Amino acid sequence: MSEDIKKVSGELGSTGNFIHSYIQEDLKGELNKLYTRFPPEPNGYLHIGHAKSICLNFGLAKLYGGKCNLRFDDTNPTKEDNEYVEAIEEDVKWLGFNWEGEVRFASSYFDTFYDVAVKLIKEGKAFVCDLSAEEMRQYRGTLSEPGKNSPYRDRTVEENLDLFERMKNGEFEDGSHTLRAKIDMASPNINMRDPVIYRIAHASHHRTGDKWCIYPMYDFAHPLEDVIEGITHSICTMEFEDHRPLYDWVVENCGLKAKPRQIEFARLGMTNTVMSKRKLRALVENGLVDGWDDPRMPTISGLRRRGYTPEAIRTFCEKIGVSKANSRVDSSLLDYCIRDDLKAKANVVMAVLDPLKVIIDNYPEGQVEFMELENNPENPELGTRSVPFSKEIYIEREDFMEVPVKKFFRLAPLKEVRLKGAYFVTCVGIDKDGDGNITAIHCTYDPETRSGSGFDGRKVKGTLHWVNADTAVKAEARLYDYMMLDNPDDPDGEMIMNPESLVVKECLVEPSVKDAKGGDKFQFMRNGYYCVDTKDSKEGALVFNRIVPLKSSFKAK
Ligand code: ATP
Ligand code: MG
Repeated sequence: MSEDIKKVSGELGSTGNFIHSYIQEDLKGELNKLYTRFPPEPNGYLHIGHAKSICLNFGLAKLYGGKCNLRFDDTNPTKEDNEYVEAIEEDVKWLGFNWEGEVRFASSYFDTFYDVAVKLIKEGKAFVCDLSAEEMRQYRGTLSEPGKNSPYRDRTVEENLDLFERMKNGEFEDGSHTLRAKIDMASPNINMRDPVIYRIAHASHHRTGDKWCIYPMYDFAHPLEDVIEGITHSICTMEFEDHRPLYDWVVENCGLKAKPRQIEFARLGMTNTVMSKRKLRALVENGLVDGWDDPRMPTISGLRRRGYTPEAIRTFCEKIGVSKANSRVDSSLLDYCIRDDLKAKANVVMAVLDPLKVIIDNYPEGQVEFMELENNPENPELGTRSVPFSKEIYIEREDFMEVPVKKFFRLAPLKEVRLKGAYFVTCVGIDKDGDGNITAIHCTYDPETRSGSGFDGRKVKGTLHWVNADTAVKAEARLYDYMMLDNPDDPDGEMIMNPESLVVKECLVEPSVKDAKGGDKFQFMRNGYYCVDTKDSKEGALVFNRIVPLKSSFKAK
């Protein structure tokens, strides 16, 4: 094993983190196989923070030749639903990971949880408590003061067994009784002050229906789930660090063999978005976004719909690394990762988002030429395509200035530019409406300058993209930007939607995109990366989601 570990360490280089050190240490000992799990609660859709955890857990298993389970931590029936189970499975697969065997559900272990609770009662390590939630808070003490024992703490084993069974049988109301571990009310760690391990909830569960009306608490169920599945390393986020002694207590006292080790790492937070499921749900329920897969959402389904690729998300997770210090990652890093992934993959096409008509006065009426353009200058393997050109075209309105500012190398009166893949043109006239708005411009072209003709005469500084007026495809462009103006995951952060997080425009695109299907990705030349929307795009009425602009221009705090 140590040779293998050396090899892995070598491959990891500087990307190795503290979790690798722990695992390598453990694998040198008795342990011979790494077993991790990704344990989402099916109460919402997965987001990019979960992707960090997925890449970490599945990634470690792969690296060390181990296994990783997908387990639904479904012990809280009121918030969970099968819709989420299905969405989560789809997202994990889409990210490129395969779990070991069948999907696991914590709810499959309800009988075992119950048996362990009975065993703890029999050993005098758990008792039924009648304190209300409010009373329990008063007894709990504070960080500086120890708690007080519950008056029910010394019930006999027989009495506890009887009451616990009656809790299970539905004889009591929600909140009237709990089962608590008997640990230490004076512990400096509040989690160890006789924590509740079972509560009564008369609620239907998405998998077990009405079979149970008592449900285990997370801190009791989670270590047991790990033990039952033989998990060796239970990787979770920092807020569980203070719960680790309780995790270990349950592992020690449950009477089952496996001894998983809990390791904590810092949650991912990102600028200008929200990651808390509660806040994401609020956005969905208040109609501020178009569902969990709105392309502005940091959910995996939202990112997928927007046009992000699994590769870009995995690279992002690699780049942010894993540490114990909570930090907020700049969202522009994810932008960088998708640009870098699509750079050599996506066809570069011409689209005009704010059209200005150009009439080429000396170009023959009715003539159409086909210009051969490279699909991707970075990747010759993607080949070429023909793009029609004729007397009337559109360019981007911002590519023309009647009175050009200094260093404006695009089109202006009597200035010459290259039309990408076509000819040099010179502006010779301007049409205006009664209010003085420019409605079209007139150019002349030089037939000698056709791209690819070997013309090696004068140089021009500007090259503009364009679309042919007759054949351009009208489409909708949805210009997405960061969702939030502020950082709502911060303690003082506010949920203020960026009013420009979605700007809808009609655009004109070259005809090569006519048959594009949902999910197809393109670079709109000189503009950004776009993805055909999987929900709203239709033949003849294409919808393009802007994934990212080519360069970021976003300014928020
Ligand atoms: P929330 O508090 O938003 O509901 P959660 O942590 O309760 O999130 P779970 O479904 O329980 O969500 O999470 C499943 C796994 O993903 C857990 O192991 C959790 O630690 C991890 N996880 C959740 N959010 C993040 C995040 N932002 N960064 C890294 N890992 C995360
Ligand atoms: Mg959770």
